[in-house]
Amino acid sequence: MKKVAVIGAGLAGTEAAYRLAKEGINVDLYEMRPQKSTPAHRTDKFAEIVCSNSFGSFEVGTGSGLLKQEMRLLDSLIIKVADQFKVPAGSALAVDREKFSTYITSILENHKNINVIREEVKTLPNHYDYIIIATGPLTSENLSKEIQNLTGSEHLYFYDAIAPTVDAETVDFSKGFWGDRYGKGTGDYFNCVLTEEEYETFYQALITGEQVPLKDFEKAVYFEGCLPIEEIARRGKETLLYGPMKPVGLVDPKTGKRPFAVVQLRKENKEGTLLSLVGFQTKLKYPQQKRIFRLIPALKDANFVRLGSIHRNTFIQSQKVLLPTLQMKNKPHILFAGQITGVEGYVASSATGILAGLNVARMVKGLEPVVPPKTTMLGGLINYITTPKEELQPMNPNFALLPELDVKIRNKRKRKEEKAKRAITHMKKWLEQTTPVHIGG
Ligand SMILES: Cc1cc2nc3c(=O)[nH]c(=O)nc-3n(C[C@H](O)[C@H](O)[C@H](O)COP(=O)(O)OP(=O)(O)OC[C@H]3O[C@@H](n4cnc5c(N)ncnc54)[C@H](O)[C@@H]3O)c2cc1C
Repeated sequence: MKKVAVIGAGLAGTEAAYRLAKEGINVDLYEMRPQKSTPAHRTDKFAEIVCSNSFGSFEVGTGSGLLKQEMRLLDSLIIKVADQFKVPAGSALAVDREKFSTYITSILENHKNINVIREEVKTLPNHYDYIIIATGPLTSENLSKEIQNLTGSEHLYFYDAIAPTVDAETVDFSKGFWGDRYGKGTGDYFNCVLTEEEYETFYQALITGEQVPLKDFEKAVYFEGCLPIEEIARRGKETLLYGPMKPVGLVDPKTGKRPFAVVQLRKENKEGTLLSLVGFQTKLKYPQQKRIFRLIPALKDANFVRLGSIHRNTFIQSQKVLLPTLQMKNKPHILFAGQITGVEGYVASSATGILAGLNVARMVKGLEPVVPPKTTMLGGLINYITTPKEELQPMNPNFALLPELDVKIRNKRKRKEEKAKRAITHMKKWLEQTTPVHIGG
């Protein structure tokens, strides 16, 4: 029998171990808590949810809702148990966190195919045929060093400084122009233009916006030279005009002049459906971000698919080191799953755990590993994190990750409904093709 290890019994690791065990494969599941904890975990339980107790919306018209629906088809342990211990929270799936992780722990600890090993993995053991690394955003320091050796140190990030991303469909492109500074490049930037008056209003809002307090273990971030946009602004009214909002090298074709200030939007995917605000990493509270960034005229009605943040977060540059099967390109017996792959949040992390577990199960059974269709939310996420790009910043499930429909539908809600229907149909079809590995029930 092949020897398999899953490292980390968080959201992704528990899904991966459960999948393998269900396939009749013996698995060693390593978890360092309680011997050693992370700055965010409080218990020794598996799949501990460290902050909000919500798994996001039920609605399949939301990225997280659709992904959860797909996960139900994949017989997700996390979603099954979340459904079982849900607490009233309107249209969101929120859980009793204690009961949720206690139950998951008991299922895995008592499973005949799972051998739980409560110790920190410092270096990768070499007696396994397959290893899934699912140690999360707060991977221990020792193992982080080992991962750096595996991936190359430049491909492991220790924090994310995320700038907000908007759905391109909601940008008012009449309030700016496409073009690169000094005309150099391929015209991939959209420059949102601000007049002096608009800049003044924006600036005042920015410096008075309320920030999320930094956790103790996050304070080092600032020393690494990653300043939030509002901190740069506080250094003086002109500072942004020489920094992220500088207009130098840009001429507005409408006026033939240099704008007073610009905010550059950069394509986040090949299709250009996602645009991020260049240099706008921020610690502003989420509602403040929406209010303040909508003062930029081109973004007045913008839908923010992801808001900005600065967090401690260990994640690899998956687009450089992983195949879409979640195997390492240069060591295919090692797979990554969870937030460490560059997906974000409880639901997306769990979903990648299912895929990693499924693929190891298939390989153990002599089958080829698989990749879900890009038209599904899971496939869209995997495609996003593994498609070549200069830099990967973490991504959560959202509809802009899914390819357009064959027919054009104007109504946004209807369009999402159709994309969701297509995703579910394609996921079902894909699952039929992934047999004989058993899924469901
Ligand atoms: C402060 C904070 C707040 C967050 N708030 C939210 C939120 O509100 N909503 C949301 O959706 N997401 C939130 N997240 C993100 C969320 O925690 C992750 O998306 C999710 O937990 C990732 O799942 P995972 O399995 O990849 O990692 P985790 O769930 O963190 O699991 C990793 C596991 O690996 C273990 N481990 C680490 N190193 C080793 C080692 N060397 N050997 C053995 N075991 C090891 C850890 O103890 C842990 O149990 C937050 C994250 C942080 C840090």
